[in-house]
Amino acid sequence: MEKNYFDVIIIGGGVIGCSIARYLSRFKVNVLLIEKHFDVAEETSSANSAIVHSGYDPLPNTKKAYFNVKGNKMMEEVCKELHVPFIKNGSLTIGFNDEDKKTLLNLIQRAKLNGVEAEFIEKEELHKIEPSLNDECLYALYAKDSGIVSPFELTIAFMENAMDNGIKLHLSEKVLDIKKDGDLFLIDTDKDKYKAKVVVNAAGLYSDEILKKLEEPSFKINPRKGEYILLDHFNNNWCKHTLFMCPTKVGKGVLISPTTSFNYIIGPSNDESLKEDTSTDSSTINYLKETASKLIKDIPYAEVIRTFAGVRANPDVDDFIIEESKINPGFINCAGIMSPGLASSPAIGEYVSNLIKEKLNLEINTTYNPTRREIYSLSSLGIEKYNELIKKDSRYGHMICRCEKVSEGQIVDAIHRNCGARSVKGIKKRLRAGFGKCQGSFCEEEVCKIIARELNIPLNSVLYKDEGSEVFKYRFKGKKNEN
Ligand SMILES: Cc1cc2nc3c(=O)[nH]c(=O)nc-3n(C[C@H](O)[C@H](O)[C@H](O)COP(=O)(O)OP(=O)(O)OC[C@H]3O[C@@H](n4cnc5c(N)ncnc54)[C@H](O)[C@@H]3O)c2cc1C
Repeated sequence: MEKNYFDVIIIGGGVIGCSIARYLSRFKVNVLLIEKHFDVAEETSSANSAIVHSGYDPLPNTKKAYFNVKGNKMMEEVCKELHVPFIKNGSLTIGFNDEDKKTLLNLIQRAKLNGVEAEFIEKEELHKIEPSLNDECLYALYAKDSGIVSPFELTIAFMENAMDNGIKLHLSEKVLDIKKDGDLFLIDTDKDKYKAKVVVNAAGLYSDEILKKLEEPSFKINPRKGEYILLDHFNNNWCKHTLFMCPTKVGKGVLISPTTSFNYIIGPSNDESLKEDTSTDSSTINYLKETASKLIKDIPYAEVIRTFAGVRANPDVDDFIIEESKINPGFINCAGIMSPGLASSPAIGEYVSNLIKEKLNLEINTTYNPTRREIYSLSSLGIEKYNELIKKDSRYGHMICRCEKVSEGQIVDAIHRNCGARSVKGIKKRLRAGFGKCQGSFCEEEVCKIIARELNIPLNSVLYKDEGSEVFKYRFKGKKNEN
């Protein structure tokens, strides 16, 4: 077979592209995923609220409702198979007055239509299950099936599992042009030329620009930025549920939620922005603080680690765009995947891969293994088993990141897996080294040394994230890279 011929090429290594790759690997098929960054999960899939929404909110009979509800049901099992942190912590959508009460009761009707369990609860019960709340919080819609997941770990795990099952990944390669030639698509990147029978456009914020290379897009992405405040994991019981505000005419307010590592996030804002703008600013952060104080009074801002932002791929149509092009059959758009895209990702991956299976008449891959090799950590194994591990491999006893308790053994393992870490940020996303209070001040240099040693590259060429972000050239001289 021609070297650069693939049955399927997926453009974009976010959670949607990587999920499609993972589910496609259930079949005998030759697939390449192309991602322009040095790693997967570098854009929207790395900076969001990380909520596995229950599915009460999307309008009934929309793609959002269908994929959200299905994805929520699949998520626990998927995270077990892939060893990704997931917690079903439940969400509370809080009402403050009679108007909100009406909205919450309407949302409960909508939940019923979507086939989602949602319960209306009054103040006494509300404050019993979430004691951190302000006294002004009067009612709530309780969605017990809502959960939280680590979005970048999920994306990476999808890709690693896809690669374990035979899918190929090209990183640091940007798709520049797409043409149709008979039954095949011709794809030009900044590195090579490819042919494919089917192309999946999972390019997130850039999905309209990718489609434009082939045909006039029927949608446009109008990016909207969401800024956040991140608190340290100071107390696992401070806020147990994901707290949403009741949506009003002026918007959805902000949320407070634990993360799977028991940090807490406050946000997001919702403002027009450029696609690549992930900056944060003090006026937006002050707005978040003021709004969040309606939910919980004395938020311990002394625990703030950092602020961050993600950009929504907001389409000018009111639903996910998951469909094959009518003009160019074989070109499948997975575009405008805003929230609840993360929650929907396993269901979208399964659906799109089944579509391609039918189209290309694919056979089952009888060697497909849905399980990713376990990642050993002190928190997952517990002290006794971890001590056993140290006896077998002493590198697991050499703690590199003291804030998040990440060992040399874990870092070496993360580098040598499929879709392995090759940068400081790559290690951070996989293991949380550098995610803690000191933000890498103590461990970053050690992490660089391990990357250089394991990849057999000079220390001064170790990258923070993308090419051109050499840590020893920029970061330690005071020019800090973003994210
Ligand atoms: C503020 C905010 C909060 C959110 N909260 C939630 C939530 O709580 N729950 C939830 O379910 N969803 C949430 N979402 C939505 C969720 O994050 C997205 O639905 C999901 O991450 C979209 O994934 P994606 O793969 O489509 O896009 P991306 O993650 O952006 O991936 C697209 C990839 O395509 C690559 N690419 C683009 N152009 C090219 C090219 N020319 N060549 C090669 N590669 C290219 C990009 O580099 C990128 O890696 C939130 C989003 C935001 C911004």
